[in-house]
Order: sequence, then structure tokens, then C-alpha cells
Amino acid sequence: MKKIAVLTSGGDAPGMNAAIRAVVRAAVYYNIEIVGITRGFAGLIKGELIEMEASTVGDIVHKGGTMLKTARSEEFKTEEGRKKAYEILRENGVEGLVVIGGDGSFAGAQKLSEMGINTIGIPGTIDNDLAYTEYTIGFDTAVNTVLDAVTKIRDTSSSHEKATIIEVMGRNCGDIALHAGLAGGAESIILPEAQLGIEDIAKKLKQGKERGKLHHIIMLAEGSGIASQLQEEILEKAGVNARVTVLGFIQRGGDPTSFDRIIASKMGVNAVELLLKNESNKVVGIKDNKIFNMDITEALNMKKPFDNHMYKLTEILSV
Ligand code: ATP
Repeated sequence: MKKIAVLTSGGDAPGMNAAIRAVVRAAVYYNIEIVGITRGFAGLIKGELIEMEASTVGDIVHKGGTMLKTARSEEFKTEEGRKKAYEILRENGVEGLVVIGGDGSFAGAQKLSEMGINTIGIPGTIDNDLAYTEYTIGFDTAVNTVLDAVTKIRDTSSSHEKATIIEVMGRNCGDIALHAGLAGGAESIILPEAQLGIEDIAKKLKQGKERGKLHHIIMLAEGSGIASQLQEEILEKAGVNARVTVLGFIQRGGDPTSFDRIIASKMGVNAVELLLKNESNKVVGIKDNKIFNMDITEALNMKKPFDNHMYKLTEILSV
């Protein structure tokens, strides 16, 4: 392997820069040429390749977003689009590719590996919605961002003795809501994996009021409903006028936590080492604090288990 490339794809996530840095520095360390591709698969099709060296990735380890920019590409989903991408890589002598992104990006990586480009995927998404790995890069930072907001909202919620609904991101995965809900002491947590009924919420609100609770934080994962609708239902069924905060894109930005920087660094180096061993069609993950790799197809076919134990804990602690 003489020359490899790296790109970021799908939604951005804090820690992607740390992963790019790790890939580039590992390539330099192992004496292989490295190019960066800007704007994901869309940029690849257009031939947006930039030479990278150790200094190109200086001063980015602590920054959110991605220096390579990211995009979604409909064209890459077509055979014609992928052929263009393949030819650009071949023309430029690129033998291996590291794709940092979510499941869609991994599906794209898998297709390129079938065409003969050695590809390795690194999980970069705040959603933590990939079944094969315990954590994705960006998730820990997003949870901490939500937690920071919950702590602030709690002050106002307590002062005004109000219930608050906080809608958080995560698509069809409730992990951000569950983790930030547990750490932030939310009273009710509504997840795609565990739908708390309106009656349960109303009961909890009543119980809370009876025992003199000043606030009631309802954490709502975006994949399980819309905050304004829930607000109406709560008013109707429990007679409580809850406030609504939709956190939105602040969850995707910000400086990555040490955890995200560390896993990104480990995964980035590991991906390059796999390419050096002529491996392809693999994704890198973390389990029990150890970095491992597995077949992309196998990883994409896995179903994410729900952490029932953690969910039960939130129920116990909000009594
Ligand atoms: P996130 O979880 O942050 O949204 P993602 O990687 O899942 O990240 P997607 O938009 O699903 O984001 O995928 C990113 C890009 O990967 C797509 O725009 C497309 O170019 C490519 N891609 C997705 N699915 C496929 C597929 N089945 N075949 C080929 N390419 C794909």
C-alpha cells in the first residue's frame, strides 16, 4: 500500500477532526502517501483531492466539525456515480480509503471495496446508532452538550416550578436522550426503544407535585415524537403547561471531549494499520474499552440492543 485517502461523510460529529489527524499522522509515520478528500463522496466524484502531511492536520485535534467538510451525495448512490469515484481513486493511485461517517457512509464504503478499493470505516456520528460498536465518535460530546443545557434549564425550571420538555437528537436511536437523561436527572425519558405513554407521564407529574418536586424534566428523543405535540397532550391529559426546548444543531457542534478525541485517535491509527495489512471492507469499533474491527456487511446487519438496565435505572432514580 503506497497511497491512501481519507474522507468524512454524512452528518458532522465532534471528534471527526481528531480521527482525520490520526489517519494522516499514522500514514506519515508508516511512510505512505495520504490525500484528503473534501465533501465526502460528493467531493470524491468531483476529484476534490488534497495532499496531506503531518502539518496539514496541526491544531485541529480539539476542534468540532470536520476540516475536510462533509456532504451527502445522491450521485454516489448510483452505479455511474460510484464508477466515477472509483476512476478518480485509480487515476490518483489511491489504493486504500478511510471513510469516517455513519451507516450510510459505510454502505458506500462497502460498495467501493466490492469494486477493488480497500476501504475501512470509522464510526463518526453523534447518534450512537451503529449496532456493532459501543460508542461512535461524537456521541460523548453530544451527551455532554445536552447535559450542559439540561443543567441550565433545570435552574429556570426549578425557580418557576415548571415542567420542561427537552427534545434531543439521535434519529431513531434514543441513546443521547437516555444517557443525558440519566446523567441530568430527568424525571421522564421518552425513547424510540421505550415509549413512555402519556398516562405514565401524567402520573409521574402528579406524584412529583405531591412530593414537592420543583421541576420535572421530560427528555424526548427526536425519533419518538415532536415536543410541541407532547406539550399539547400533557396540557390536555395532565393539565400541566410544560415549557419546550428543542436543542437542535448545538448538539452537533463544539469541542470534542477527551473521550471522543481518544477513541478517534485510536480508531484512526487502527484503520491505517488495517490498510497496511491489506485488509478491506472492515469497520473499526470499540467494545469493553478495546478497539476491534469487523466485516462491514456483518456490522451493518446487526441490530442495536437496547440498554434495558440503564433505562430501568432512570425509572428507579426518578421515583
Ligand atoms: P449520519 O448517521 O450522520 O447521517 P450517514 O453516513 O448515515 O451519517 P447518510 O446520508 O446516510 O449519512 O450517508 C452518507 C452518504 O453515503 C450518502 O449521501 C451517499 O453518498 C452514501 N450512501 C448512503 N447509502 C448508500 C448506499 N446504499 N450505497 C452507496 N452509497 C451510499
